Amino acid sequence: MAFAAERESKSTGIRPISVVEGVYDSIYHRLMSLEIAPGARIPIDVLARELNVSQTPIREALSRLEREGLVHKAHLIGYSAAPQWTRKQFEDLYAFRLLIEPEGARLAAQNMTPEALQQLESSAADMGNGAPPVDRNTRYSRFARADALFHDEILKIAGNEVIRATLFNQHVHLHIFRLMFHTRVTQEALEEHESLLAAFRSGDAQAAYDAMHVHIERSRDRLLSAFE
Ligand SMILES: [Zn+2]
Repeated sequence: MAFAAERESKSTGIRPISVVEGVYDSIYHRLMSLEIAPGARIPIDVLARELNVSQTPIREALSRLEREGLVHKAHLIGYSAAPQWTRKQFEDLYAFRLLIEPEGARLAAQNMTPEALQQLESSAADMGNGAPPVDRNTRYSRFARADALFHDEILKIAGNEVIRATLFNQHVHLHIFRLMFHTRVTQEALEEHESLLAAFRSGDAQAAYDAMHVHIERSRDRLLSAFE
């Protein structure tokens, strides 16, 4: 895979941000689709050859993925894919989400503006439509990102930056969606998002709280089967 932006940048001298972006996307996709297995080493030189880029954008992309908790860096060993979550880690995270996100949805309903609602509606719609599915894993990894964005937007509207940053730093969705690629998950989650949006549209803070609570609980139960 070659990146047109890199070739272009050589003549224009513009910093090839989109090369890093493309490399990031490619590695991200391999991690999410388990093409790079949890715990597996990620050799920079091999990736650079495969993606037909220098090692610099690979290093930049890997350090971004490290900040997101998807890869680990060890002295003298280099990068490897983060290990798969244990059931305990998963349950702890969901207990935390159940404390934080329903309250976030309640606050968001109270602070909702027509502009914020419109933005949220379009994020939700992006999740349902999008490009035609290349394969199940690709579709799922796209969904994971769109869902993370949707949940983050709600917390942004809620207006409590401590809550938002704390959850964001867990990179919840990135890990969860590596757990399994379950075709029904997406459709069910979309329906749950829809009831959340209905609560926001009617300005009902309690309904928003409840809808988020149900969504997180169902999401937990759908994913729990990955450990069985
Ligand atoms: Zn969701």
